[in-house]
This record gives sequence, structure tokens and C-alpha cells, in this order.
Amino acid sequence: MRRRLVSAGLLELADKLDSGTRLDAADGVALFQTPDTLALGWLANRERERRHGARTYFNHNIRIEATNVCVASCLFCSFARLKPGDAGAYTLSLEQAWDKLRRRQHQPLTEVHVVNGLHPDLPFDYYTELLRGFKRIRPDVHLKCFTAVEIAFFADLYGMTDEQVLRDLMAAGLDSLPGGGAEIFAERVRRKIAHDKCGTERYLAIHRLAHRLGLRSNVTMLYGHIETADERVDHMLRVRTLQDETRGVQAFIPLAFHPDHNQMRKLPAPTAVDTLRVHAVARLLLDNVPHVKAFWIATGVDVAQTALWFGVDDLDGTVQEERIYHMAGASTPEAMSVDQIERLIWAAGREPIERDTLYNVVRRRPRGDAVPRVTSVPAGHE
Ligand code: SF4
Repeated sequence: MRRRLVSAGLLELADKLDSGTRLDAADGVALFQTPDTLALGWLANRERERRHGARTYFNHNIRIEATNVCVASCLFCSFARLKPGDAGAYTLSLEQAWDKLRRRQHQPLTEVHVVNGLHPDLPFDYYTELLRGFKRIRPDVHLKCFTAVEIAFFADLYGMTDEQVLRDLMAAGLDSLPGGGAEIFAERVRRKIAHDKCGTERYLAIHRLAHRLGLRSNVTMLYGHIETADERVDHMLRVRTLQDETRGVQAFIPLAFHPDHNQMRKLPAPTAVDTLRVHAVARLLLDNVPHVKAFWIATGVDVAQTALWFGVDDLDGTVQEERIYHMAGASTPEAMSVDQIERLIWAAGREPIERDTLYNVVRRRPRGDAVPRVTSVPAGHE
């Protein structure tokens, strides 16, 4: 492997990792530039196995997008509709939203994940009641709801501080923040693709604040459109700096750009190789973030499975009824059962572990098929 790392231009970087020296921005760019995807994957897998061995996490969750009405105009978005009444616009009543959980009340799901458009007319108590209702139906369920972009929007719309918004939502049942809305932090790109929503500094400040208030969060990165390697690295390093400060980020989630039905439809979607490389570099740069997640809805199931050997240790969850990516042309299923996720993890040579949102183990099941489990880099590949 040493010879391979030399020819990939990654030996010095591998030595840094071995000695516990932190990678810097130039290293991150070098990782993106190496032509040897497998050498990059080998390094990322080594870091993944140092932290998690063969363990691969997922959860039994449900996604609810209560409204797609949104005043923002992100160029990559296929989900939003500007006004109520526009073709395809919808806003669930509270009863309709609660019904989605009621119908699954007896499933052993552990998390409700809610993200929405930025609706200009709903009152704040729509959101607090939404959470209260979910907790009435399933007091034990974890509510991972509202991106930092939504928190900023609520504060501006209702004349509150970000902290008041978070505290009120927490009092209503909010348990953690999802990572959406990060897109790309570099101002050059953010100005072009997401100019009229919460900026980078506020996004990070809201996560910092949430961590101070005792919440955990995830952070995403939308990749595969107009961003450069330097801007991807810059994004990851801003997450690393936040994490040095707060230790509140649980997972980093690269999100693949999907080009259907949006204003960036002339761009190609990222390739499978690009997807594997982004996840691998994230694992190597984000030395202080415990988990790197492949959101299988966005990457595709096969690529997510392969990514388990490129630094990824988490596959999100059962999801159920995802709309945001499917309105952008995703051809993945809208849901997977726990059995299906476990099977695909075993088939990749990894060990599935059902977790809750905070990564407590919910269930480990013995493997149910005949595919041999591989627990480390095979001999001879060192
Ligand atoms: S990405 Fe979010 S904020 Fe942007 S237009 Fe779509 S729903 Fe609105």
C-alpha cells in the first residue's frame, strides 16, 4: 500500500494521519486532486475503522415536510413553491401532519425528522403545536426538526431572537437540529445559489447556540454543482472549527446535488466516484466529528453501500415519504424497511446497528444471510 500511496501523492498525508497531525486545507485539496480514488478510500476507511470498526449505524425514522411554501429562491431547489395556491404548493394542517405519525404510532420508530419551506404566513404556534402534538402521540419519539435556516427565518418573521426561538421550540419538544440549509459556506457560491436565506455566519452561530443550549445537531454540505475543491475543503474546515469549540455536531452529511426540475438543471449530477471521494475526504478532514453519513436517498442505494468502504459509518434511516429529493428527480425508493437496510449493510461486509438519534444502540441483530462479513482491510492490502 505504501507504494500506492506514494504514486497517489498521499504518503506524506498518510504519515500525518499516523502521527496524529491534523490535516490542513492544502491536504484537503490534495485529497480531492489525487487521481487514485481507491488510495483515498483506503485512507478514509482506515480512519473509519479506527473509530467504528465494521459498525454501521442507521435509525428507524420518518420524515415529514409540513409545507413546501417558501419565500426563498435557492437555485438548486425543486421542492419549494413561492406562494400558497401555486401549482404543487402544499401546507399540511396540524391534524394532517400528526396523522402521519399516528398512522405509524405502533412502529418502533425512534425519530421524527421535520424540515420545511420558509412559509411567510403561518403563525409561530403552528410549529410549537406541531411538536407538542407529536409528543402527545409518541412521548418517547425524538424530534429532530427545523434547520438553522428555518430558525433564522422564524426569528426574523416573528420578531424574536434566535435564542428565544430555540428555547420556545425546546419547551414544545424539540430535541435536536437537522443539518440542512448549510449548502456551501463559501460566500462566492452561497451568493449565487442561495442568496436570500440565512448566511453562513448565522447558520454556524445557530448551531453554536443550539449546542450551548444542550441540543445536538448535524451539518450537511451540498456538493456537485458549481463549488470548487477549495470551497468544499473550506466548508469542511468551518465545521471542524465549530466542532472544536462545541463538540455538538454528531454527523457530517454530504448531500448530492440533483439537477431535475430546478434552475440548475443544465448541470450534470455528481458521479458515483465524486460522491465516494467527497465522503472519504470528509472522514479524513473532520477528525473531530464522530460520524460521516451517506444519505442513501441522495447518493443512491448502491453508492451508499459502497461508501461504507470510503469513510462512511452511517446510512441515515428508513426515511419514509421523502419529498425534497424525489421532487428533484431522485430515483431511489422513498423508504426502506429496517430489514432491507440491515441486509444491504451485511451485504457490504459491515455490521448494522440500529441507533437512536443520539447514537445510543437500539438493537443489534445477528446477520440473517450468508454473505461473509469483512471486518477490516484485507491482508495484503496494507
Ligand atoms: S432549499 Fe429550502 S430555503 Fe431554499 S428554496 Fe428550497 S425550501 Fe426554500
